[in-house]
This record gives sequence, structure tokens and C-alpha cells, in this order.
Amino acid sequence: MHATLPLIEVSDFPAIRRRGLATLQVNVGYKCNQSCVHCHVNAGPTRTEMMSRETLFEVIAFLKASGVRTLDITGGAPELNPYFRMLVIAAREIGVHVMDRCNLTILEQPGQEDLAQFLTDHTVEIVASLPCYLEENVDRQRGKGVFEASIRCLRTLNRFGYGQPGSGLVLNLVYNPQGAVLPPAQEKLEQDYNEHLGERFRIVFNRLYVLTNMPIQRFGSMLISKGQFEQYMDLLKNAYQPENLESVMCRNLVSVDWRGYVYDCDFNQMLGLPLAWKGKPRTHLRELMSTDLRSNPIVVKDHCYGCTAGQGSSCGGALAA
Ligand code: SF4
Ligand code: SF4
Repeated sequence: MHATLPLIEVSDFPAIRRRGLATLQVNVGYKCNQSCVHCHVNAGPTRTEMMSRETLFEVIAFLKASGVRTLDITGGAPELNPYFRMLVIAAREIGVHVMDRCNLTILEQPGQEDLAQFLTDHTVEIVASLPCYLEENVDRQRGKGVFEASIRCLRTLNRFGYGQPGSGLVLNLVYNPQGAVLPPAQEKLEQDYNEHLGERFRIVFNRLYVLTNMPIQRFGSMLISKGQFEQYMDLLKNAYQPENLESVMCRNLVSVDWRGYVYDCDFNQMLGLPLAWKGKPRTHLRELMSTDLRSNPIVVKDHCYGCTAGQGSSCGGALAA
């Protein structure tokens, strides 16, 4: 895989600072049952990095000490961490809202037969990737048969009440473009998803999050291989909208890696750009137990233009929405 950091290191992206912490996003491991071409984590079945039980206890201690109200669990496929359920239960017990970044097909993996029931029982919000409502496009990006399996899993989640009005079980879908283009308008695409998935498969969901592909890791490397990296960076920079700076996710989120080290966001984690704190080369979550990170400078590079282009992009979809 081509390294993307040297290409984004020298940057004119504006300096920004943190606000109050609202969300702890924890990457519990890079192992995944899929190996999607756009994956910024470079996750896959052979990755072995996995958060330990001890580090998960530190995450729980941090949630208690900080009073953060949202835990966003990501991976890889986070459910493959053997302590995933322990983390969910502990967070829910202290009233923390839990989000699971679920790739859907994990529901059909051996040992995960009761996953939908578990997520239902603990009212976990599901954020599920479905990069298109057309089979051909999904399979090209995520692997053969993934679309069909995803549809089956969405139906299962619907049966448990996910996405159904009044159930309190939230099912949000995530779209990202197939190639080196900006995503379409979130609201319009959400309508298209609703119509297509509803009419064809009777599937319901709450919101569609539209994400911009980041020029890093697997997608960035693919751009380099195709000679499209500079062109894509120009596209992001030309679409820069300064008002999106106010709501980029790093303002109120901290990203934690599988060893417990902290970053301003998941993308910085993947680039190995630690959260800047007290001049230390890297900081562990346990060092921040009662720290107010407000006004701390955020580590920005050229990839940040991916968050501010057009309607903006974050783990909660378009910023302008
Ligand atoms: S399902 Fe998600 S984590 Fe797994 S390879 Fe695909 S994009 Fe990466
Ligand atoms: S990539 Fe986006 S979320 Fe991460 S530091 Fe840059 S602007 Fe913030």
C-alpha cells in the first residue's frame, strides 16, 4: 500500500481548536470479515490488532470519570472483539448512549447468531455501511455477495424493530462514493435510498449519512496507483466551505486506538497523528481521566479538506444537514 501521509503533511488547512468532549469513539480492533476497497482502516480478516480487556476497563473508567454521554464503537468489525459485549453492557449500565459501527454482514458470521438480539436488548444505535442501493456497486466496493447479505441483515434488524417508527431502535445507514468524486446531496440521496430499499425490499431505516472518501490508507493508495491523488486533493480543496470548520467532528470527539492511545479523529488515528497534548509524543486515555481538552489545538493536515468539502463530512454524515 502506498503511504499517503507524506503527500498531505505540508498543509495550509486552517488551525482549529477543540470544544467540550461529547463523544468517545473507540476502535476496538482492526479485524474485519470484509476487506472493502475504500476502507480507511485497512481492516480485514488477517488483522490481529485487538483492544485488550484491560484497556476496555480503562475506557469504561474514562466514561465514568469524564461524564461523556456517547460511546461510538468502531473497528474493523467491532463485534469481533471478544469483549465487545462487555463494553456495551458496562456503558449502558452507566446510561451512556452506545453506537455500533456495524458492517451488517457480521450478523451472519459464526458465533454472531444472537448479535441482533443483543443489540436490541441494550438499545444500541446501529450505524451500518451500505455504500449504494444497487447490488453491483456494493459488491464492487465491498466484495461479491455483500449486497445480498446486507439486505438479509437489514431485514433481520427491521424484524427486531430497528428503524421502525416508535421503536427507539435507531438504524442509520452510511453511504460513500464509489470513486474519486464528491458525494451527492444527503437529503436527496436519503429519499432515493428510502424509495429503493422500501419498494424493492421493504426495508426501513432512520437516516442516511453521506460521507466523503478520505484520501488516506486504502482509498488514498488506490488514488496514487491510478495517478488521481493530486486531482482528488484539488477537488476537495476547490470545494472547501469555511462554515464546515465550525462543526467538524474533531471539535467534540476523541478517537481511541486499540492500545488506548488518543487522537483527534479516526482518520488521524489511521495516519498515526496523535492528539497533541503537553508536548508528549503520544497520550494514553488513562492520562486524560479528568482533563478538560477544551481549546486544545487539533492536529490538521491536508486530508482535513475531506471533512470540509461541499456539504461537509463526519461520522454523523453531512455537516450542513
Ligand atoms: S466493513 Fe468497514 S471496517 Fe470492514 S473492511 Fe469494510 S470499511 Fe473496513
Ligand atoms: S480529518 Fe476531519 S475530523 Fe480529523 S482532524 Fe481533520 S478536520 Fe478534524
